[in-house]
Amino acid sequence: MKDSFGREISYLRVSVTQRCNLNCVYCGKEDCAKKEAELSAEDIFRLVKAFAQCGITKVRITGGEPLVREDICEIVEKIHSIEGIQTIALTTNGVYLKQYAASLKEAGLQSVNISLDSTDESTYRHLTGAAVLHKVLEGIEAAQAAGLAPIKINAVLMKGVNSDGAGELIALARKAPLDVRFIELMPFSDSGEDKEMMVTGAEILQQFPYLKPIESEQATARYYSAEGFRGRVGLINSVSRKFCADCNRVRLLCDGKVKPCLGDDTLYDVMPYIEDETALAAQIKSIILKKPAGHRFEEKAPAHGLNKTGG
Ligand code: SAM
Repeated sequence: MKDSFGREISYLRVSVTQRCNLNCVYCGKEDCAKKEAELSAEDIFRLVKAFAQCGITKVRITGGEPLVREDICEIVEKIHSIEGIQTIALTTNGVYLKQYAASLKEAGLQSVNISLDSTDESTYRHLTGAAVLHKVLEGIEAAQAAGLAPIKINAVLMKGVNSDGAGELIALARKAPLDVRFIELMPFSDSGEDKEMMVTGAEILQQFPYLKPIESEQATARYYSAEGFRGRVGLINSVSRKFCADCNRVRLLCDGKVKPCLGDDTLYDVMPYIEDETALAAQIKSIILKKPAGHRFEEKAPAHGLNKTGG
């Protein structure tokens, strides 16, 4: 369905947990180890079904870290059974992907985004709080072997932290047919430090002038390639070049609240309607119509980090 600004809303991001096995420096305001209320697989099924009735065709499962949920394959399987859902994707830090890749594929998962901010062991540990880089690299291989596609590597660069490793990350797209995408650091801390540390897409292009633009199928990411590359490099310039006018997404949080805009703190609780499919769909439609025109990151940091709202 269209929202009140004429945008076709077809993409739902479902955060299945706030818990995470990593503790990335830029991500959360909430405690990653704390177990908050989480929707059951059955409730997720009912809610996504109602969203599908409102025009959602693509679902991305995220968190927190979605693979900390032991019923993650059941969740994917249930979503896969919903009429109207054409694409199911997952965003993960990749640490547990080796265990799950094949079963997730069997359950109906199509593609995977894997977060990897550095290929250097000690920088990775500094950024995430865990010495598990080798597990993520094994996870990427397992996703390839399981036939999940496309595989996208998401990286957030920060000046003075991991920005000097951008070339090694780009090299992953030279060696393998995958997308390496740089996401601009979004201001989830109140200190204002994010602004100074953020590496813009323009700065990346300046540093790697051999990257040449190629056609991009998405409004959110601009894609580039270079001679001899098997994959692509993507730039997601969500801060320096807002793409709110093309935003097609809404978010379902792990406690059943709906967040129509990542940069806006307004949440809507749909759990009171879960027993009544018609009322639930009507409620979701009214929430989609309240989706704001765009985020205002430049004015105010959102109240919650991405580990709560889902990346
Ligand atoms: N645990 C999963 C993972 O690591 O991919 C899913 C959740 S995580 C919040 C999703 C994505 O959000 C990650 O790619 C992460 O890099 C990104 N992210 C978190 N905080 C961010 C920030 N302040 N700015 C930009 N991206 C951020």
